[in-house]
Order: sequence, then structure tokens, then C-alpha cells
Amino acid sequence: MYKLIDGKVMSSTMRWIIAQGVNGYKDKYKRDVGLVVVMVGDNPASAIYVRNKIKACEEVGIKSYSYHLPEETEQAQLENLINDLAVDNNVDGILVQLPLPKHIDAENVLKLIPAKKDVDGFSSENVGKLCLGEEGIVACTPNGIMKMLEHYGIETAGKRAVVVGRSNIVGKPMAMLLLNADATVTVCHSKTKNLKEECLNADILVAAIGKPKYITEDMVKQGAVVIDVGMNRDENGKLCGDVDFEKVKDKCSYITPVPGGVGPMTITMLMYNTLQAAVNGEKF
Ligand code: NAP
Repeated sequence: MYKLIDGKVMSSTMRWIIAQGVNGYKDKYKRDVGLVVVMVGDNPASAIYVRNKIKACEEVGIKSYSYHLPEETEQAQLENLINDLAVDNNVDGILVQLPLPKHIDAENVLKLIPAKKDVDGFSSENVGKLCLGEEGIVACTPNGIMKMLEHYGIETAGKRAVVVGRSNIVGKPMAMLLLNADATVTVCHSKTKNLKEECLNADILVAAIGKPKYITEDMVKQGAVVIDVGMNRDENGKLCGDVDFEKVKDKCSYITPVPGGVGPMTITMLMYNTLQAAVNGEKF
């Protein structure tokens, strides 16, 4: 019988703990913990993500500042804003909601966020620290997954982990975290030959592909831990993951549902990273 990894329950417990940390920080340093969320344009999905992030800030006591700029904002205007925020002492974390409009070079914008305020963990400095096993800010989604594995007592050392997907925000940092936790890691992608064979080797299988129900029961080893990062719509417009949950679940020891698995933890880890950025700011 499989066990469900409940991201909702874990997330609400973690938010309570983070709220205690934020209160303690405010008492000690007599200042707020501040997160800025910058959004450009009117992408409806981005608007929902931004709203949820602001709501999470309220829940844990982080002061949020939101900048919603028009679609036609120019590169220089956006860069000027980020440069101002980079030196603003009220701001501990800066988050630029992606995707940005096509005429904006996102890479050049993100580069302006100082590593210590990079609460998404995307900067080359933070990614480099992750690769070297040094303390830094780690991308929210994979970091949340590691917290889930720890919380459910799922051993990683010596296990075979297969990560399907190699994006900079999920697949690559996920693989590095699992490697740092002593798993033997394989990373698969769209050019991988025999994906099914690779997946069948996995004690821990992480799917971060972006294709509805792509991982089917014949790709999963009996007793595997399956982590589904995907957020897709099925043929009926219903939210679903990259894993065919109904068919795969009975082969698993643990599995994350969609919704209610990895998703809720991602925003919680953003709160965690923002508090970490504020605390680090007092140290250096
Ligand atoms: P992405 O940047 O599009 O990357 C997808 C990865 O999957 C790529 O590395 C791609 O390989 C690989 N891939 C595509 N088709 C494949 C196939 N047929 N076989 C094997 N690998 C294949 O996506 P992402 O940003 O990592 O996101 C992945 C999914 O997670 C999406 O559904 C996204 O919405 C979701 N997501 C959820 C959260 C959350 O909080 N729950 C957070 C972030 C993302 P190539 O590199 O070769 O193209």
C-alpha cells in the first residue's frame, strides 16, 4: 500500500515554523523581513502565482512589496528598478516573476539581483555554491522536495535516483541536491534513449517534464518513491502531474499527488529562503 506525501499538511506546518522565525527576527533586529515581487505584463498564470506569494507573505509575517509593471516596460526601466532594489536596505529578497515579455532579456535582468537577495536561488553564485556543497540559497522546488524526503524519513544515501528533466530551476538543482545527499543520480531529458529502462532503475523517481501523465506504470519499479513536479492540464482541463497517478500509485512506496504535493511546498520554500536571506544579511 502506497503512502501519500502530503505537501499541503507539510507546507502549513512549515509556514507556522517560518512565522515563528520571522517573529523572532523582528524582535531581535527591530525590522521587518521584506520580499519584493516584480511582475511585468498581464500573464494570467503569473498573476495567480504572484497573488499566492503575497498571501503566503501575509501568512508568515513577511512584508511584501509588489511592483506590477505594464507589458511595454523597457529593458532599461526594469533594470533600473532591480538596481534600486538591490541596494534598498528594506529589501531582503527580490523575485522577478517569469516569464517576462519577449522583448525583455530575462537573463540580463536576473543577473542584477545580488546573490544574497536571490531568493529563487537562480544566480550563478548560488548555483555554484550548490554544486560545491556550500551553504547558499537553493531553488525553491527542489529544496522543498528534499524537505519532503527528509520529513517522511525517505533514505537517499546509496539509493538510485532518476531525475527526468534538466531545467535550471528544477531538474539540475534537484539532481545536485540528491547527489549531495549521497544518492546515485541519473538525469534524463528529451534526448535520453530508453527512458523507460532508466526510470525502472529508480528507487527515487522525480518527474519534472511538463507532459501530462507521461510517466506510466510500466516505467516505475515496484516500491519506488515517486515525486511528481509537473503541473499540467489533462484533456478535460483538470490539473494533473507528469505521472499517471491513478495507474502508478499502487507500485509506489510513497508518491506525491498533483495538486497537493510539490506545488504548495514551492511557495513555502520561498518564504524560507526570504527569512534565510534576512538572517544572512545580519551576519555579513
Ligand atoms: P522545462 O524547462 O520545460 O523542462 C522540461 C524538461 O523535461 C527538459 O529538460 C526536457 O528535456 C525534459 N523533457 C521534455 N520532454 C521529455 C521527454 N519526452 N522525455 C524526457 N524528458 C523530456 O520545465 P520545468 O520548468 O523544469 O518544469 C517541469 C514541469 O514542472 C512543468 O509541468 C512545470 O509546470 C512544473 N513545475 C512545477 C513547479 C511546482 O512548484 N510544482 C515548479 C516548477 C515547475 P530537454 O532539456 O532535452 O528539452
